[in-house]
Amino acid sequence: MHILVTGGTGYIGSHTCVELLASGYRVTVIDNLSNSKQEALHRVSEITGCELDFVRTDLRDRAVLEALFRDRDFDAVVHFAGLKAVGESTQIPLEYYENNIGGTLTLCKAMTEARVKKIVFSSSATVYGDPASVPIREDFPICPTNPYGRSKRFIEEILQDLYRSDGAWNIVLLRYFNPVGAHRSGRIGEDPDGIPNNLLPFIAQVAIGKLPRLRVFGDDYATPDGTGVRDYIHVTDLARGHLKALEKLATDPGVVTYNLGTGRGYSVLEMVRAFEQTSGRSIPFEIVGRRLGDIAICYADPTLARTELDWTTDFGIEEMIRDTWRWQSRNPEGYE
Ligand code: NAD
Ligand code: UDP
Repeated sequence: MHILVTGGTGYIGSHTCVELLASGYRVTVIDNLSNSKQEALHRVSEITGCELDFVRTDLRDRAVLEALFRDRDFDAVVHFAGLKAVGESTQIPLEYYENNIGGTLTLCKAMTEARVKKIVFSSSATVYGDPASVPIREDFPICPTNPYGRSKRFIEEILQDLYRSDGAWNIVLLRYFNPVGAHRSGRIGEDPDGIPNNLLPFIAQVAIGKLPRLRVFGDDYATPDGTGVRDYIHVTDLARGHLKALEKLATDPGVVTYNLGTGRGYSVLEMVRAFEQTSGRSIPFEIVGRRLGDIAICYADPTLARTELDWTTDFGIEEMIRDTWRWQSRNPEGYE
């Protein structure tokens, strides 16, 4: 099986390439390197002992994509490529819509022409917006609150329309909760550009001394300790979910949607304490006001992925933090 991985040099993509190669898949990655480094793929090969092909291109370059699909015999596509910063998406919404939706349209047209009609798409729990209750099931209302989330929602709908127009398509929509951690080798991990937006990379940079202190965004939420609760999931568990999704595609399921989360939430302060324990470093923090657009609590009901994909998580919070810390302490400058 030959898989095209869009955005495969990125954080989740590179970890998924490791799992694909280790399971015997052939892999071709395309990426424009707008938010990643090619070095990640050298390390993927080093970890797995397997080679993979890399084509540097923007997903929206139709001529390159068509040539790629003409020249190679892809069986399916795992589609990660996209812009992902919620805050930035409120500043430059058109870039987000153009990149995320435009890229997906070009990809799907090239796939149609080549008659490759199997795709796994990276959606996000952010499509649920502020849920009325937790845990969140796949049939909960979809109401994203920012342009990034809306780009995911629109792509989900575009893919559903595509299936309605042509039943030969098979599509798995994966709604990720909060991916964290790194490969256990410490060789690949999340390498954010500039100051991290997400909690765990921020804490890791405080632990290593690159940032002075964590700002905890609000301690007055209706949660046990007042700080926000999220469903953190180890990136290797998430990556393995994509292999299960590819197996599902082989059964011609039509369009199916799955939450990928652990089903357990942790607060910001629980994460701080767990990180201090694992790293042996202290994490200074101050409580500041709420971050605009944040919700109190978000965690998955992962039952559907368990029953229909036979997917469960292997790693808990200790491994998530241990592997984040190993990656951060061994690669203080990321891939540089
Ligand atoms: P990432 O930024 O590390 O990886 C995305 C990759 O896509 C990058 O390597 C980037 O260079 C590439 N890319 C972006 N636009 C492109 C284009 N037009 N053409 C070619 N390449 C392009 O992000 P990630 O954390 O690995 O996320 C992967 C996917 O999962 C994204 O679609 C993201 O929205 C989604 N997702 C991520 C999270 C998260 O918290 N990390 C949560 C939910 C969903
Ligand atoms: N958070 C925080 N300080 C930070 C970054 C995040 O207190 O510097 C909190 C945030 O308010 C949320 C949780 O940590 O409650 C997870 O935030 P993240 O941005 O990682 O994920 P998301 O909010 O997108 O689920």
